[in-house]
Amino acid sequence: MKNLIKNFLVFFIVFLAVAAIFSYFGESVEKPERAGTEELINYINNEEVESIVVEGSKLSIILKDGSKKIVKKEVGESFSELLSNFNVAPEKIVAINIEVKEGEGLNFWMVSILPFLIPFLLIGVFIYFMMRSVQGANSKAMMFGQSQVKQYGKDNKEKVTFKNVAGVKEAKEDLKEVVEFLKHPKKFLELGARIPRGALLLGSPGTGKTLLARAVAGEADVPFFHISGSEFVEMFVGVGASRVRDLFKQAKKSAPCIIFIDEIDAVGRRRGAGLGGSHDEREQTLNQILVEMDGFEPNVNVIVLAATNRPDVLDPALLRPGRFDRQIVLDEPDIADREGILKVHAKKKPLAKEVSLRRVAERTPGFSGADLANLLNEAAILAARRNKKIIEMDELLESIERVMLGPERKSRVLTEKEKKITAYHEAGHAIVAHFLPNTDPVHKISIIARGRAGGYTLKLPITDKHMQTKMEFTEEIAVLLAGYVTEKEIFGDITTGATSDLRRATKLARRLVTDFGMSENLGPRTYGEKEEMIFLGREIHEQRDYSEKVAEQIDKEITLFIEHAVHTAKGIVNKERDVMEKVVKVLLKKETLEKEGFEKIVGKKPKEDKG
Ligand code: ADP
Ligand code: ZN
Repeated sequence: MKNLIKNFLVFFIVFLAVAAIFSYFGESVEKPERAGTEELINYINNEEVESIVVEGSKLSIILKDGSKKIVKKEVGESFSELLSNFNVAPEKIVAINIEVKEGEGLNFWMVSILPFLIPFLLIGVFIYFMMRSVQGANSKAMMFGQSQVKQYGKDNKEKVTFKNVAGVKEAKEDLKEVVEFLKHPKKFLELGARIPRGALLLGSPGTGKTLLARAVAGEADVPFFHISGSEFVEMFVGVGASRVRDLFKQAKKSAPCIIFIDEIDAVGRRRGAGLGGSHDEREQTLNQILVEMDGFEPNVNVIVLAATNRPDVLDPALLRPGRFDRQIVLDEPDIADREGILKVHAKKKPLAKEVSLRRVAERTPGFSGADLANLLNEAAILAARRNKKIIEMDELLESIERVMLGPERKSRVLTEKEKKITAYHEAGHAIVAHFLPNTDPVHKISIIARGRAGGYTLKLPITDKHMQTKMEFTEEIAVLLAGYVTEKEIFGDITTGATSDLRRATKLARRLVTDFGMSENLGPRTYGEKEEMIFLGREIHEQRDYSEKVAEQIDKEITLFIEHAVHTAKGIVNKERDVMEKVVKVLLKKETLEKEGFEKIVGKKPKEDKG
């Protein structure tokens, strides 16, 4: 926007200048009447002329009666030549007051050269603006430039510090060192320590990598240059590399500072692993980043932070000493962290007194920091829509489901039959989950459509899980298939409502066999090298490192897991038929069933104390 105004101003000034030049020449055409040379000679011979001003080829004549005339003579021919050509008597000339003004040369050049010059000038101006707008677009796409630096660096309103980041204690601890380097580089240099060039922030999306990088810049009070790896890849070949050069040049000028490269895996993938054109560009960009990082002088205080959630695909060259030799892991938040993050984001939101963020944290295992921030935002929106002045627990709890599953879609009307099938389907999931010993307890059952799901059964773990056992996985598959099994047992038919259940069950079973080594027959090894490749923006993976015969075996094993799960589910569905009917009855009436209501019907979950 600012650029636009500036461009416009420059254009305006050029326009004014051109207009002024034209009006200068136009001036002569103004008031005085034009006359021919013949006329002028007549005036002189009749002694009617008072004075003549010679200005280049222009003769301004004032007659004795006070009227003014303009006469143009030939360029290059002098006034006296003109007079002698017409044989004017000298005494007549003496009687006239003749004044010769300068500017003959200037005017001459203007008149003869300007017409040629103007088109060139216009073309030049045009090209200049073209170049400018192209450059402007580029720097916008790259998300850096002077304005970006100001925005994050010096503006205290936008300043983020470690206080704004909850949880991720180890990461903060590690990054404090970086802050020290930025603040007091001398301390380290005097001891001969080498200031680290880069640190890699590892963590799944939404764990606060960007936030933490900004907090480092905020703590050290240095500018923050932000750029995303994926932006390089979209560029034309060669532009990415030159942009990297620019970025580092700018950064060095404003040292000490932080460069943050988000999604570095987009450029930093193992070289030689890709196909297609975008790949060359990526390689060039990556090389340029490496060159720049190697080229830092030891006392240049620029630290590069990069973020990725895929450290496994990074080019090893990036991880060498002097480059991103420090790796900082951002864990997914545990219950205490979640509470902390909720508190940070609840600061500016009016919460009712009875709200317990701890309880919200309990109910949100697996939520990332971004999810939690989003949750509080959703709650605020809900409260506003209900015309409340404060956010209450209701809104918070409802927002958990909104974030997890998308908003409820009450508008999708189910027919009586569809409703019945959905009720049985969901009750099936819930009953099987309830009676299997190693599954998470049922939290809520609903036959109201939500996001893409027709109905849903929500299970939540009691504690945060870091590891899962084979037993838990196989029971999970049984729960996933329970909807399908129930439909088949009760109605003797199946619907498309089970499609996504089946897909998820199959995927999980495949992972048990190929990734976790949990199949008895195929043993403790992995199958398939998950090498990432990018082709036309899409990832193709799975390099087979096994034979056709083994592939067949894997399929067989997957089927075995599925069959076993179906068998388990079927057993429970048939055994607990009576309880299921009760659950279905309530569901058809109320549409949703909370944990407490569900447990009233089915009893407490056996072995609930298990985690
Ligand atoms: P990433 O870069 O890892 O994908 P971001 O840093 O962009 O994640 O996080 C997105 C948003 O989530 C942040 O702007 C912040 O509001 C919130 N957030 C994430 N982690 C935390 C945290 N630990 N503390 C406070 N807020 C967080
Ligand atoms: Zn289902």
